[in-house]
Amino acid sequence: SLLSAKQIVLFGAAGDLSKRKLFAALYQLFVADLLVEEVRIIGVARLELDDASFQAFVKENLNTFVGDQTEAEKVDEFIQLFSYVQLDFAEQAGFKSLAKTLDANAYTLHYLATPPSIYGMIADGLKAHKLNNDFARVVMEKPIGHDLESSKVINDLVSRHFKESQIYRIDHYLGKETVLNLISLRFANSLFSNNWDHTCIDHVQITVAESVGIEGRWGFYDDTGQMRDMVQNHLLQILSLLAMEPPTDLSSENIRDEKLKVIKALRKIDRTNVHEKTVRGQYTKGHMNGQQVPGYTEEEGAITDSSTESFVAIKAEIDNWRWAGVPFYMRTGKRMPCKHSEVVIHFKHQPHNIFGNSYTQLPANKLTIRLQPDEGVELTVMNKVPGITKEIEIHETKLDLSFSDISDSSRVVDAYERLILSAINGNAGLFIRRDEVEASWEWIDSIKAAWDASNEAPKGYAAGSWGPVSSIALIARDDRDWDE
Ligand code: NAP
Repeated sequence: SLLSAKQIVLFGAAGDLSKRKLFAALYQLFVADLLVEEVRIIGVARLELDDASFQAFVKENLNTFVGDQTEAEKVDEFIQLFSYVQLDFAEQAGFKSLAKTLDANAYTLHYLATPPSIYGMIADGLKAHKLNNDFARVVMEKPIGHDLESSKVINDLVSRHFKESQIYRIDHYLGKETVLNLISLRFANSLFSNNWDHTCIDHVQITVAESVGIEGRWGFYDDTGQMRDMVQNHLLQILSLLAMEPPTDLSSENIRDEKLKVIKALRKIDRTNVHEKTVRGQYTKGHMNGQQVPGYTEEEGAITDSSTESFVAIKAEIDNWRWAGVPFYMRTGKRMPCKHSEVVIHFKHQPHNIFGNSYTQLPANKLTIRLQPDEGVELTVMNKVPGITKEIEIHETKLDLSFSDISDSSRVVDAYERLILSAINGNAGLFIRRDEVEASWEWIDSIKAAWDASNEAPKGYAAGSWGPVSSIALIARDDRDWDE
């Protein structure tokens, strides 16, 4: 489209995210012919490189991280799009050379793949050369702060020079096929949309389990913890897509308005109810696939008395008409038995059982949305056992839709491809608006403050298990179980 970015500036082009994700995503967009023809990609970092050595750097990383899926000829064509500007963002003078290489009157995507503490400096540098004009868009990586106050500081620094409509905050979960499909499932199927509330749904479970530990990132992770790293962003985004009211259309603002209302309707968790509604855990040593693995405080570089959580379970409640009395149980952790993310909608039980004794109560229908791996949707239904029997017998069966069976491409599109393309085209619907970030932090901060005030150590759970025993108690108190 006419609004598509012709210049993409990658701030932090020598960093881990650029190397592992951004070059690869841009390459796939290039191969799929989704970039505008004359597009230029300008890498910016402190490393001393010229255009040719930066192109070689991009190629090397593509080979490492995309490997067999690349075509040598295409890669050579692709790297021609790249040039490089060496720049220390702390020195405002350096932005002059960047300004010289850019056409200020062409749509430009500034991708900030640097530590968020630097976003303000970059915004200042761009403003000094009028590169914050209406042709500019800025993509901001997470984490936007570590609480409400610090997120406001970062947002304020960027907002001094860019309008909210120019700012694209990433949550890569919103680029995932299966997360986006929540919208289609809910609003393109009357079977679901007409039954999507407290009259039909008993409760909802959201699980995002990781098998990895902290992967050598002690410094980063110990300051952050699972609550800030996963719940504030990814889990609350999934929850808001599941629970939002139907937007009038799919425009960015309408979707984000509805998501925001959900986050604002979350019942506050504070000192008065934090024990009943949350569990924080930390893994101890255990076994993963038959191998012994260390506990959290035995990881390399660990502070041995750290009380950072690597697991969180929360019973969230949404105080609005649709969801009155329907808890959303969320849990996420590291060193769980497998990498496994899913949403399970538990429908209500039938009020009466006419099928006799094989069941005292009929199992309720369950809609499982598998986010990863083995992406798909599964609906459990009660069905007659085929054949002749003395009495009618019924059993639980599954209608199973595996996305790999219905997709004609074997390649899974990475979230970053979809997100970068949206940002290039000026579509902000898959990005987080400032008020969403702030409302999420407000809810999270209250829980964190209650944890801090209680001064209790996180509950231990063996690596390779599904979390602390108290997380089972959290849901068992309501006569329910976590899905296996
Ligand atoms: P990183 O490996 O530390 O890379 C940061 C990049 O920024 C490097 O190229 C670095 O250049 C550059 N940089 C830092 N300070 C600079 C300065 N003053 N002037 C010029 N360049 C400077 O970080 P990353 O892992 O790629 O992460 C980047 C952003 O993405 C962060 O906000 C992070 O939270 C977010 N993120 C990353 C991942 C991931 O998978 N890595 C996932 C989600 C979000 P030098 O090499 O010269 O220091």
